[in-house]
Amino acid sequence: MNRASAAETDWTDLDRELAAWAAAGRTATFWWRDDDAVGPSAALDRLLGLAAAEAVPLALAVIPAETGPALADTLREHPGRAVLQHGYTHWNHAPAGEKKAELGAHRTAAEVTATLSQGQDRLRVLFGAQFLPVLVPPWNRIDPALIPALPGLGFTGLSTYGGKAGATPGGLAVIDTHIDIIDWRNGRGFVGEAAALALAVRHLAARRRGETAPDAPIRDEPTGLLTHHLVHDQASWAFIAAFIARVAAHPAARWLDVFELFDPDRTAWAHTA
Ligand SMILES: [Zn+2]
Repeated sequence: MNRASAAETDWTDLDRELAAWAAAGRTATFWWRDDDAVGPSAALDRLLGLAAAEAVPLALAVIPAETGPALADTLREHPGRAVLQHGYTHWNHAPAGEKKAELGAHRTAAEVTATLSQGQDRLRVLFGAQFLPVLVPPWNRIDPALIPALPGLGFTGLSTYGGKAGATPGGLAVIDTHIDIIDWRNGRGFVGEAAALALAVRHLAARRRGETAPDAPIRDEPTGLLTHHLVHDQASWAFIAAFIARVAAHPAARWLDVFELFDPDRTAWAHTA
């Protein structure tokens, strides 16, 4: 069963989908993004520990206006971890009743792009070579009119959730996430094993069959795990540990290095024939 229903999907469905990739002679590629890092915490230590235990690459979307040298010191101990730019302040500028957005159309483009440049400068200074100029819009939401300006601001990549950014101009690597493990509308707990696995299996099956969203550019894209270390409950941590280990151990699956992933000169996520 590839068109997995969220209520029934389990680990055997993931295994079956990965077996289909293997049968096709392909490697299913994955990447991992964790959002909202600002400073050291027990939760961050746990996250970094999990990634290290399974030797899985990890990208941290860091909020420029809220972070500082303490996080930079912590991450220096984990040189393989990439830092991406999570907006600037992560403040909501949308009026009440509208979906939350920092990078929406609620301010002038000049105002928004000035804050993004400021944030980029700050992350470069703090994190040095660990910083990749990849924009992760807070709430995965960005005014499409801002996107053409991103390469001129020095951004080489953009990452949202499940194609929310829409079509994007050349010169920008657009690599989204697809497996959000948090149930934001119901108390910010774990979304549940079946729901998380269904997101994974559906995205993998769509890639394998060459299906894309109707308005999305046709491209293969690694399947992205999205986590938020500051809100994880025990069930969330348990799922992450099980999922990253399962993928890492599978012969037809591979976690991609984030530095390679967003390097415009490489196509690390392209499927192998
Ligand atoms: Zn966020």
